[in-house]
Amino acid sequence: MKENKTVRPHRRITILPEHLANQIAAGEVIQRPASVVKELVENALDAGAREIVVTIKGGGGAYIQVSDDGTGMDETDACAAFQRHATSKILSVEDLEQIRTFGFRGEALASIAAVSHVTLTTRREEDETATEVRIRGDSSSTSREERATGTTVTVQHLFFNVPARRKFLKSPQTEFRHVYDVMQQVALSHPEIAFHFTNEKEEIFRLRPGTPQERLLDLFGERRCEQLIPIDERSETVRVWGYVGKPTFGQKSRSHQFLFLNGRYILNRTINHAVYSAYEHLLEKGTYPFTVVFLELDPQQVDVNVHPAKLEAKFQDEQGIYRLITRVVRDALARAGGIPALSLGSGQLPDGSVRLRFTSRQHERTAPWIVDSPSDEIPRSGRSDGTSIAGELLNQQEGREGGDRSDEATLLPGLLDPATMGQSVWQLHERYILCRSEGGLVVVDQHVAHERVLYEQAVIRLNAGTRDSQQLMFPATIQLNPAEHSLLMELLPDLEQMGFDIAPFGRNTIAVNGMPGDVKASDVEHLVREMLALYREYQRASPLTGRDNLLKSFACRAAVKAGDRLTEEEMRELLRQLSAARMPYVCPHGRPVLLRIPVEELDRRFGRK
Ligand code: ADP
Ligand code: MG
Repeated sequence: MKENKTVRPHRRITILPEHLANQIAAGEVIQRPASVVKELVENALDAGAREIVVTIKGGGGAYIQVSDDGTGMDETDACAAFQRHATSKILSVEDLEQIRTFGFRGEALASIAAVSHVTLTTRREEDETATEVRIRGDSSSTSREERATGTTVTVQHLFFNVPARRKFLKSPQTEFRHVYDVMQQVALSHPEIAFHFTNEKEEIFRLRPGTPQERLLDLFGERRCEQLIPIDERSETVRVWGYVGKPTFGQKSRSHQFLFLNGRYILNRTINHAVYSAYEHLLEKGTYPFTVVFLELDPQQVDVNVHPAKLEAKFQDEQGIYRLITRVVRDALARAGGIPALSLGSGQLPDGSVRLRFTSRQHERTAPWIVDSPSDEIPRSGRSDGTSIAGELLNQQEGREGGDRSDEATLLPGLLDPATMGQSVWQLHERYILCRSEGGLVVVDQHVAHERVLYEQAVIRLNAGTRDSQQLMFPATIQLNPAEHSLLMELLPDLEQMGFDIAPFGRNTIAVNGMPGDVKASDVEHLVREMLALYREYQRASPLTGRDNLLKSFACRAAVKAGDRLTEEEMRELLRQLSAARMPYVCPHGRPVLLRIPVEELDRRFGRK
């Protein structure tokens, strides 16, 4: 009979032997030495350890040892722990819905034992001696040993029986860095625990138990910590706290965005994006923020069982969390005073040209942790609790109104004081407004400034729900395409709140009868079309912030442009409005609105100092 190679021989279904099943499962849980360290350290935490000692060699591929002073196990449990689906952490589906431990899948020890040589020594307080379990492939042995209360797991020859994985391992230095990342993540989220980490006999860190601030300081050093702004905010169901880097503290890689969910380090693109988007245009191109964000919420509101290494989580109300985080981070950045002062610093380049860099006012701070408490930076008005414009968006039902803002004009006194600024103003290249400030010269980007003003006014109107619009002498009829038309209809309620008076006018056609009072109605049709187009663009980039996208696209398209000539009166009016804005220093996208050149800077340049 001719053999047909494309037909596989028929085989009976069999249940995989346990060691093979474990080896397959191990592929998901244990990818590299760092995964082993993560699982073992999490087990130690789950066992209530106060001190965890981690020692590795050869980047972890050759040797990993994790010791803890936790509860330990008796002999029965010590043996059972290596079976797949062996766990002491959950018993029922209900437990799975409110997990407070790191582990729950009962896979880690079984997986580790399937791909390495493992020795576990463990003792409970009430037992006289410790149990040692040694596992080498299929064979295992137990013996009695001496040990203080706690558990030590030693893992050698990782992937000795999985050549494909072994080949995939990178150099010991690279693997060490992955282990280091894990250690850093765990240490950051557990400042109350002492960690001792050694690589090739070199002590990497020895961390004492302390407060979150102390831990951050120990891990990152004073210089870096000075660049951080604390955040802390809670709603009924969520608490968001942590530290976010000032925009001037941009990082070259994304690896400094730490996100923890109920003490567990997780990767979540949406939330990381929420953090990142709060920095929109505040960071230099190609740099990323440094952030340590802790999210605490009822375990029932999230599903942590969506990833074998438990690195991902699914949130019930991802949108709500997205908005909350963006707002909290934005607020923090605003509080830190995003106002860039032009500084020539010591950046004298060899060719005699001068490197300009931005520094923020807050650099003079001394104590690293006394950072920008709202009371010392922004005068609290009666109704403000430090929430931003975006915050107000979320609190619409409160129906705040924007009349009482006299105190806000005193932000950074002298800088935007209409009295000093009103003296002389110049327009430069139909783009910038130059004016005097108390300590020097202020340069304002006219488009961005107007954008900020319009944005805030629109927010106030949207919240107040007063719908006051200025009737047009000549209503504009606009023929839209079906897509534009349906989008406009969808946005109509918000547009009306913002001050647009729009009525249907036949198929795909609308009549604009009125506009928000502060907008020049020169080309209504152009404005509406452009606004819709920009809104669509913003929606594509961040679909979760629809209303803010609408406000931004309105502000951007209705604002004066670079290239528009302004009269002195118009410039003054713009500056006056800007000085009354809640956040006059960055546009809704985060671009700087103004730049201050202190007299001292000029003095320095002219060699007066
Ligand atoms: P999981 O953590 O998901 O329960 P593991 O395979 O990591 O699964 O561990 C299995 C069980 O072994 C745990 O549920 C726990 O009871 C026990 N165990 C593991 N490590 C330790 C430790 N360091 N101290 C005390 N008990 C441990
Ligand atoms: Mg575990």
